[in-house]
Amino acid sequence: MQHQNTLAYAQELDNKDELKSFRKKFHFPQHNGSDMVYFTGNSLGLQPVTTESYIQQELNDWKQFGVEGHFLAKNPWFSYHEILTEQSAKLVGGLSSEVVMMNQLTVNLHLLMVSFYRPTKQRYKILCEAKAFPSDQYALQTQAQFHGFAPDDAIIEVEPRAGEYAIRSEDILAAIEKHKDELALVMFSGVNYFTGQVFDMKTITANAQKHGIVVGFDLAHATGNIDLHLHEWGVDFAAWCSYKYLNSGPGSVAGAFVHEKHHKNTSLPIFAGWWGTDKTSRFKMEKTFVPIHGAERWQLSNAPILSMAACKAALDVITEAGFEKMRKKSAFLLSYLEF
Ligand SMILES: *Cc1c(COP(=O)(O)O)cnc(C)c1O
Repeated sequence: MQHQNTLAYAQELDNKDELKSFRKKFHFPQHNGSDMVYFTGNSLGLQPVTTESYIQQELNDWKQFGVEGHFLAKNPWFSYHEILTEQSAKLVGGLSSEVVMMNQLTVNLHLLMVSFYRPTKQRYKILCEAKAFPSDQYALQTQAQFHGFAPDDAIIEVEPRAGEYAIRSEDILAAIEKHKDELALVMFSGVNYFTGQVFDMKTITANAQKHGIVVGFDLAHATGNIDLHLHEWGVDFAAWCSYKYLNSGPGSVAGAFVHEKHHKNTSLPIFAGWWGTDKTSRFKMEKTFVPIHGAERWQLSNAPILSMAACKAALDVITEAGFEKMRKKSAFLLSYLEF
């Protein structure tokens, strides 16, 4: 399609847009009596109109049932997180058993690194992008320190070349090759929060893993934004938040992915809690932790139902729109912007 730099052309695109009715499914902040033009969904997505009723449902069930809501609520709280799994797994290209919504993003990064950053005296370094999101930098620094390593020595950052903004894929692969015998972990974002650069996760994963290096991704700016195939790519672990592109509300529940290949490995060190133990014996309140074979093993606590209700409302809007259609529109808008 040949783009045109006219108002009429832009309006024609709006009229033909098969997703245009979805604008009405979100509340827009107001400015001088009209909807703001909102370009910060990458920081906090707008509130779906349905969010209130999803949260109200849980408030009603809490009012009506008290503690029995864990089993008697319309969506029983005991297993509430499970109703978020399939839709979330689809967005990251994971199996349902590989994905769980829990905690917050940085919390999940730490919990996953407890299992997947296992440094030895020879192999203890972490390769990451320069100018990663600060929370990720602090997480990596303190993980290295926790294991007795100095962050300046343990963390290797790949930078853009002088005069460039994006980091070249070939430079990432060269860094993996150069440090292959000392790297314990390669940990990148899927999309850099500041430059918007999409990293070639498939190639990074393959090149690191062939040297026995574990690979994790922070998908805060990738989930709900670009196509992801974590299972197929063989990524070891990943985490993301749901309040940016997924519109689940401030500080809402985050996601975690652990590849199937690790599920049966019960010798992986974890920081455990009662929500990670086998569901059928959980309420026997016994001493022995019986690890769930799946990402749910990493759960610690009973779930934050109110923020999960907001997350469910938001995921239902995405499901209704169809993520493939959102991607198509996104690519089209990008080509128009470039034009
Ligand atoms: C938004 C963002 C965070 C924020 O972390 P929280 O734990 O959700 O506060 C962390 N890392 C990246 C890459 C982000 O984009």
